[in-house]
Amino acid sequence: MADEKELRYDPAAIEEKWLKRWAADPKLYAAEPAESNKPKYYVLEMLPYPSGQLHMGHVRNYAIGDALARQMWMRGYNVLHPMGWDAFGLPAENAALKNNTPPREWTLSNIAAMKRQMLRLGLGYDWATEVTTCLPDYYRWNQWFFLRMYEKGLVYRKKSKVNWCPECATVLANEQVVNGCCWRHEETRVEQRDLEQWFLRITAYAQELLDGLEKLDGWPEKVRTMQRNWIGRSEGTEVDFGLERSTDKIRVFTTRVDTIFGATSVQLAPEHPLVAAFAEADAKLKAQVAELLEEQRKAREAGDVGAIEKHGVATGRFALNPYNGERVPIWVANYILMDYGTGAIMSVPAHDERDFEFANKYGIEIRQVIRPVQDENRAKLPFCAEDGVLVNSGAYNGLTCAEAQKRLQKVAAQQEFGEAKVIFRLKDWGVSRQRYWGTPIPMLYCLSHCEGDGPVAVPDDQLPVILPEKIEITQQGGSPLGRVPSFVNTTCPKCGSPARRETDTMDTFVDSSWYFYRYTDAKNAKAPFDSAAAQYWFPIDQYIGGVEHAILHLIYSRFWTRMMRDLGLVKNDEPVRRLFTQGMVIKDGAKMSKSKGNVVSPDDMVARYGADATRMYAFFAAPPDRDLDWQEDGVAGVSRFLGRVWRLTTKHAAQARSASIENDVLKGHDSSRTEEQMTVLKENDSSRTEEQETVLKGHDFSRAEEREGNSGALAPEGNLASPSAKLRRKLHQTIAKITQDFEGRWHFNTCVAAIMELVNELQDADAQLAAGEVSKPVVRELLTTLVLLLAPFAPFLAAELWEELGGEGSVLHAPWPKSDPELAREDEIEIPVQINGKLTAVVRVAAGSDAKVIETAALANEKVRARTAGKNVAKVIVVPGRAVNLVVK
Ligand SMILES: [Zn+2]
Ligand SMILES: [Zn+2]
Repeated sequence: MADEKELRYDPAAIEEKWLKRWAADPKLYAAEPAESNKPKYYVLEMLPYPSGQLHMGHVRNYAIGDALARQMWMRGYNVLHPMGWDAFGLPAENAALKNNTPPREWTLSNIAAMKRQMLRLGLGYDWATEVTTCLPDYYRWNQWFFLRMYEKGLVYRKKSKVNWCPECATVLANEQVVNGCCWRHEETRVEQRDLEQWFLRITAYAQELLDGLEKLDGWPEKVRTMQRNWIGRSEGTEVDFGLERSTDKIRVFTTRVDTIFGATSVQLAPEHPLVAAFAEADAKLKAQVAELLEEQRKAREAGDVGAIEKHGVATGRFALNPYNGERVPIWVANYILMDYGTGAIMSVPAHDERDFEFANKYGIEIRQVIRPVQDENRAKLPFCAEDGVLVNSGAYNGLTCAEAQKRLQKVAAQQEFGEAKVIFRLKDWGVSRQRYWGTPIPMLYCLSHCEGDGPVAVPDDQLPVILPEKIEITQQGGSPLGRVPSFVNTTCPKCGSPARRETDTMDTFVDSSWYFYRYTDAKNAKAPFDSAAAQYWFPIDQYIGGVEHAILHLIYSRFWTRMMRDLGLVKNDEPVRRLFTQGMVIKDGAKMSKSKGNVVSPDDMVARYGADATRMYAFFAAPPDRDLDWQEDGVAGVSRFLGRVWRLTTKHAAQARSASIENDVLKGHDSSRTEEQMTVLKENDSSRTEEQETVLKGHDFSRAEEREGNSGALAPEGNLASPSAKLRRKLHQTIAKITQDFEGRWHFNTCVAAIMELVNELQDADAQLAAGEVSKPVVRELLTTLVLLLAPFAPFLAAELWEELGGEGSVLHAPWPKSDPELAREDEIEIPVQINGKLTAVVRVAAGSDAKVIETAALANEKVRARTAGKNVAKVIVVPGRAVNLVVK
């Protein structure tokens, strides 16, 4: 029963076959060099952390990128589609502790396992450009960049308050603290500690990073908003309040200098240096300040100092308003942060919510200095809007807030007690980590102090500073590298004295800040990458990943690109032109997690339904930007659908194959085909009958109806109702829809649905196809195009059927089909319109229009409007597809 065997879609066999073929062709997915005359397209999915197992979220992410890459290959682009490994990081160390496996070994074996999974899924990556960040050939360039930044003053070391995750036993960047907890340990509160740290001066680019967002119109608005808020620009004024009986000054930052005559106190952060001085002479104050500081520390750890219950203490000291010499009390308050602005504010209770609350609590004077311009009723305090005029403000009375801000700023500058100032919420990037599995920071400390107390940079020719492999990982605190004498003890390159190496390693976000440049020149041993190659490929045309990277990786890499630009390595300001953030894959309404027991393994799905069905389901089940609730029934359904495609195509493949020469004429879908061409078509067809017969037999298509009745003639083109015209119309509509979606909307779920509808129509026409009522060239067009449309979503089946249809070369480089708008156009039907039973007009509407559309067309008709003008249309009766009756009185 050869037939029955053939009629069973066997994804395992098909995919096995193509995996072997593709493995034998390592250049299949290779990009062409920059000299290529094709337009370039760089599509990239965010590189994974090598945990050892792909999860469904990965599969979805990579399937989207892979579909896009395949479609762009078919459209004739020179496509770069690489993959790599974000291979440094804590889990490797934790695994080492648990299983006693060295982190390197653990990581590399995980990479091998995940790479196998990716290959099995048929993802089209150019593995020749693979990047593994934990290998010295990559991380040496992290060190090289660090040194370049050090030379430019973009790297510095200082003691600072840091976020410390007790679980990770290391420092976290601000970006890695989420609601007061560690980004890796959602239930672990982050503590504050004081440590000497290395920082990258990302704030030097704060304004540029903010301005650049305006041009990133290919990025989701929510990501741009998150970055804007994270950078947090405030325009304002810095003003020095004098300190009574002292030459000291208190510099405050305010965004509302126009309200300064309403300042009734100055408030300092508990850590403000003056507070320490005051407290030195006042034991009671000292204790109170310690309490405030403790409250602030707890609030910081809880992640929201803004929500703190506001407490303060009066210091008994007074400050002097520089504009009028007024004496105002100095307070210390728990909600003022030392690392925002200057760590000191002027408190204007009449015009600020927070100051109002504080003043009411402690009985501090509330003095109105801004009056609303029009509606006096709005004068209820606090009045925080800026559309007012100044009162109780001496020489500035009557000015608008905006005018007053300018004037007061100018006075401050002239009299040298202040200046206009822009401040940012963004802080410098703390990159020191007290962990082992990361890039060693290429600095050392000379024991002869030949550079004073400062660090000494490792010279370029001593790079890379290699991470030692044999190391005992413990959680004793401090960097594990500090306990490896062969690493720590070295020689000062400046003076030859004994020296100690820096034992902190770099935040792994350093690795991912520039990895996508390395893909363009992954084997370069002399430079991080070749500038010309980067210039050709950058910016990335489409980047795809999770929104959780909106303010970590996606800000760091924008900074890194600018830093490299200023080193002369790249010319682009931005690394990524278009960004897409896909939704999560969930199960039973919840994030997949081991603890919930709702994890769906990609391997399982692939084993049961094949890679094609697994991938295609990821497209079908939800729009790519939404969360996808994984339903195994759905995967089974997609697998059955692919089976139908396979059966349909193999069943009629012989017809399509026999028209293979004519297809050259069909290419481009030229509807203006001449009589002459038609003759050629027919002649070619009849001259190949013998050959066809052989091919047919060779493929064991022995059903009689398949061989008979195929005249090979094209169906009459003008007849819109013919099966050919109907099927081609559906086909060309489907091409148009999918092409448009790839270009913009990315509603891939509806693309898959459209392919399913097309297949339904083809199946409905099965008898006509079998009976030869559709010409062979049209059958060929229908089936080959169906396969081309499937190719981005189900690459294995597409490759199989492409071969089955006699397609030349790899389907990956077959031209993407073009939709012919003429063929795609819906045909119209004529519908008579009667008024009170009398035929009045005939309207044309698209076939299949619903009652609403027909009614609108009827009422819009000129004759109908003339006959109903001034009258009452009492009733409209629509018989869809037939007639419209109006009852007019
Ligand atoms: Zn942690
Ligand atoms: Zn030295």
